[in-house]
Amino acid sequence: MSCPFFLEVVVIHLLAFLLFRFNVKKGITRLRRTFANLERKISKIMVVYKFGGASVKDAASIKHVARIIADTTGPLVVVVSAMGKTTNALEEVLNTYYNGDQATAIELLAKLRQSHFEAARAILGDEAEETMHRLNDHFVEIDWIIEDDVHDPYDYLYDQIVSIGEMASSTLLHAAVVAQGAQAAYLDARAVIVTDERHRAASVDFALTQERITKQVSDLQVDHRVVITQGFIGSTRDNNTTTLGREGSDYSAGIFSYCLDVESMHIWKDVPGILTADPRLFDNTIKIDRLSYREAIEMTYYGAKVIHPKTIKPLQNKSIHLHVRPYMQPDSEGTLINDDGAMTYPPMIVVEADQSMLYIKTRDFSFVAEQHLKEIFRLLDKYHIKVNMMRNTAISFTMSTNTVASKLELLVADLRTSFDVDVESDLELVTVRHYDQATINRLTEGKMVMYEETLRNTHQMVIKDVPPLVRK
Ligand code: ADP
Ligand code: ASP
Ligand code: MG
Repeated sequence: MSCPFFLEVVVIHLLAFLLFRFNVKKGITRLRRTFANLERKISKIMVVYKFGGASVKDAASIKHVARIIADTTGPLVVVVSAMGKTTNALEEVLNTYYNGDQATAIELLAKLRQSHFEAARAILGDEAEETMHRLNDHFVEIDWIIEDDVHDPYDYLYDQIVSIGEMASSTLLHAAVVAQGAQAAYLDARAVIVTDERHRAASVDFALTQERITKQVSDLQVDHRVVITQGFIGSTRDNNTTTLGREGSDYSAGIFSYCLDVESMHIWKDVPGILTADPRLFDNTIKIDRLSYREAIEMTYYGAKVIHPKTIKPLQNKSIHLHVRPYMQPDSEGTLINDDGAMTYPPMIVVEADQSMLYIKTRDFSFVAEQHLKEIFRLLDKYHIKVNMMRNTAISFTMSTNTVASKLELLVADLRTSFDVDVESDLELVTVRHYDQATINRLTEGKMVMYEETLRNTHQMVIKDVPPLVRK
């Protein structure tokens, strides 16, 4: 018997004694909580499920997901994204409002509120009233903002408005799961995910988040087998809502999994698992049954849109197995990501569109030396610009990056105070892990390769998109 286990037993006996001696009702609650924690620690049976926007896009999909949840047996934390394209729609509400067209913003919001109400009615029928009130409470928070003039910075407003998508979808999913007869609690992720103040790209304070998640989830699990919460959102210490970056719900699930040290995390997708390439772009993709954490990190880092790149590391740190599974075939295996055994892989292709190449040259044709690189990297850091590929020759430094026009323009303007800079856009970054020549030939046939590089298992190319890359 391990020492912590022995201590837990002593604690339970002590509690039982206190319960007897003093306040019985409080004592029972504490005793039950301790038992629930103990059970979890011994068997590590808790699991985290994450459902993305596509899996909860309408009433029928929410009901389907609710059944998957209700059919599980052990303790479960569910992290859910906003319904379908709601995040994009909320961004439009914000942009319209921010650009001064309040009337259209109000109209767009009314449509969204209506579609959520309709989903509530379709899921819950005559029992929808209470859920509709809850949904309305979330939307009212946006009403208050957009009925007034613009007072706050764009990024702050973004988080207040766009976060409501996750609040609303989780409200619907919670009601649907309860309607299936499961004991499910609703947890506002903003009460547990603590972040810094950087709106739209907040960083998580892991220590405080861990403390809050452990306490609040275990409290809720005293009486509820399932806890339903939101992806993508958090809050500052001052209770201002923040978001973790687009597609951040996978990362939220990773944070919950890490903090609760769960047995496994399951991301439910509209694909059979991780495939050798994005099936929207390529035919004949193959499902990969097993992937190492390292391989998954590499793929997502290079731009594979199937999992948010920050998701894997917290799981790897605690050896938590990650399953990527198809919600349309809940019994199928999907892809398992862990660190077991040596694995060999077929060629895997990742395409990152909207690339720009920057050709940075010294004005006086002096060699590109350390002080030049220092200045270039200082500016990259200043504008939070990620370099995808780079190379320096005697008098030039060449790099490729994702085209984020607003940031790139500022960077180039700043660089031009010291260097000559040429920019070429409309390019694609194509990465092939575990490449073979046949795959590279297929990808480059008839294309203009601007730049390519091979490093161990990885072959990368920046390809000109004219004519567009024909893949299917
Ligand atoms: P959700 O937001 O619903 O969790 P996403 O749309 O973000 O799901 O991710 C699923 C999509 O990722 C798939 O529909 C697929 O087109 C795309 N995808 C990109 N690369 C891959 C890959 N290597 N394997 C599987 N799906 C991929
Ligand atoms: N709803 C957010 C988005 O669409 C977060 C997510 O789905 O992961 O970006
Ligand atoms: Mg997504």
